[in-house]
Amino acid sequence: MSAQDADLLVHGGDVLTVDAAGSVVPDGAIAVRDGEILAVGPTAEVRAAYRAAEEIDASGCLVLPGLVNTHTHLAMTLLRGCADDVDLQEFLARVIPREAELLSPRAVAAGVRVAVAESVRAGVTTGLDMYWFHEAAEEAARAAGWRLLAGPTFMDVPGPPDGRPYGDRMAWAAADLAARTGRAPCTRPVVFAHSAYTLDPEQLVAISTLAREHGALLHVHAAENAAEVAMVVEAHGKRPVELLDSLGVLGPDVLLAHAVDLTDDEITALARTGTSVAHCPVSNLKLGCGIARVPELLAAGVTVGLGTDGVVSSNTLDVLGAVRAAALVHKAAGDPTAVGAEQAVRMATIEAARALGLASHLGSLEPGKRADLAVLDLDGPHLTPRHDPWSMLAYAAAAADVRDTIVDGRVLMRDRVLLTLDEAAALRELEALAGRA
Ligand SMILES: [Zn+2]
Repeated sequence: MSAQDADLLVHGGDVLTVDAAGSVVPDGAIAVRDGEILAVGPTAEVRAAYRAAEEIDASGCLVLPGLVNTHTHLAMTLLRGCADDVDLQEFLARVIPREAELLSPRAVAAGVRVAVAESVRAGVTTGLDMYWFHEAAEEAARAAGWRLLAGPTFMDVPGPPDGRPYGDRMAWAAADLAARTGRAPCTRPVVFAHSAYTLDPEQLVAISTLAREHGALLHVHAAENAAEVAMVVEAHGKRPVELLDSLGVLGPDVLLAHAVDLTDDEITALARTGTSVAHCPVSNLKLGCGIARVPELLAAGVTVGLGTDGVVSSNTLDVLGAVRAAALVHKAAGDPTAVGAEQAVRMATIEAARALGLASHLGSLEPGKRADLAVLDLDGPHLTPRHDPWSMLAYAAAAADVRDTIVDGRVLMRDRVLLTLDEAAALRELEALAGRA
């Protein structure tokens, strides 16, 4: 039998598929055509079956699914380092006025280019990005070949950075979502409702209805810290997740960011409604928000993906850093078995994809899925010897170990050189814009 054509062959590395069985293929290969994974198997078999125009020799490397960032605000790269060592409310008080001064489509595009460069270097291939001027963000990410999920954001604040009054946003968002129908299934429309403290209950219901009409994911910040919970109780007589549940907003197409301060009943409500959680342990620790009840969420059957949050609260877009934080922080209560290495890596790959409603397309290396993957160089003292790939990823590997990153079969970084983005120009542009802040 003659070999079939493929576009790309990644071969010779240990392939951590993150399939349901947790299979690892030693000296494995992945064949890719039209952005889709055709085959995963031993190098000798895959090379006999496929010939490709482009090859990546991953000998001495670990090949893993591209990491998925389920909660971020990419263009906040403009403000990195501007609000450290403060609580959430002081953080918002500092950031929101600066955003109003600084943001424009050009500034958001510049912020996203640097965020994409940082993400690609960290093996992150997909991000869910809640921010102003999402059209500019999407264009910047698309130009670099990076998988960005963005869409209209609702936040009822005076003087929104995009100058669009709240009353105009519903029609604008509906037109944006209508224009998306028929696009490729490996992204999906998303509607962002900032939170129950920047939107009132009627607004939350209207936004949820809009999202459902368009088959969109609804993404909401909720229960990030005790002060937020107190604010929502004071205004509406209910805790944030309790309020969202009572309004009928929760559901399988809903992803809550943070969900730190939860009661047992609220965990039950998330499980009952099929609502997912984007867990951002680094941001939660830095803002002193507390530790999300992830072991209880997982035990209740809630899907939990990992996120970094924006870089003003987490300072980097390093999803592997979030994996390590998630694998460590839940042990602090005294149980070293809480959130194990494999669980934490799954929360940045297949479970993150599930939280976005994209698990049939992303999150593992299996035939038929999109070819999003990272090649991690294992040639370092901190990764020697190689007993267990889950352990290496969760406890020892760093973003800087990522050598190659591929999104939709396109090589965005090869041998640590970015191929689809002028990184030096992007950094210079961001410095110039941020300097005016
Ligand atoms: Zn956030």
